[in-house]
Amino acid sequence: MKFGFDIDDTLINLREHAFHLYNKKLNQSVDLDVFRALQTVEIHEAFGLKKEDGNAMWRECMEEIYFTDCPSFEGALETLNSLDTDGHEIYYITSRPKKYCTQTREWMKAQGFPVKDDNFYCGMQDDEKIATIMKLELDYYFDDKPAVLETLKDVQTKVFIMDQSYNQSVEMPRMKQWIELDDILSNNK
Ligand SMILES: [Mg+2]
Repeated sequence: MKFGFDIDDTLINLREHAFHLYNKKLNQSVDLDVFRALQTVEIHEAFGLKKEDGNAMWRECMEEIYFTDCPSFEGALETLNSLDTDGHEIYYITSRPKKYCTQTREWMKAQGFPVKDDNFYCGMQDDEKIATIMKLELDYYFDDKPAVLETLKDVQTKVFIMDQSYNQSVEMPRMKQWIELDDILSNNK
């Protein structure tokens, strides 16, 4: 089968990684509970930053956020590697900026994710992911972001939400942890 995955906040804990970096850079000690209650994908509200300042800070820190030691979610590496071992095709579909695509692909390999160069799609807008998902005729696709998921309600692909505080109002099958994937697959046979 063909499995497609978003990367940030679906496979790796990027926002929380950025949250810790922001605390350090802004010399603040905002509690993780504040982060966990955020209703937005963007994290600047937790630090009392306005949208423009928050966007500027994200752009400024982007390389450091992307390419340092952001952890993957528990079970993500093992799950994708076992899908790969079982002969499934694995695709990555990320809207990270074009200029970071090659570095992102290599970073994912270095973390131990099974990556085939031809199966790595990067640099599209959130609402353009659907074109790739349909073209590839994916059996399953996993993402966290409401703006992406809203575009995927009528596709043939079975779409699952990675459960996050900011996507609670999206009504779609939801996955809380990667170890649940085996059950999801057995229930969808
Ligand atoms: Mg994401």
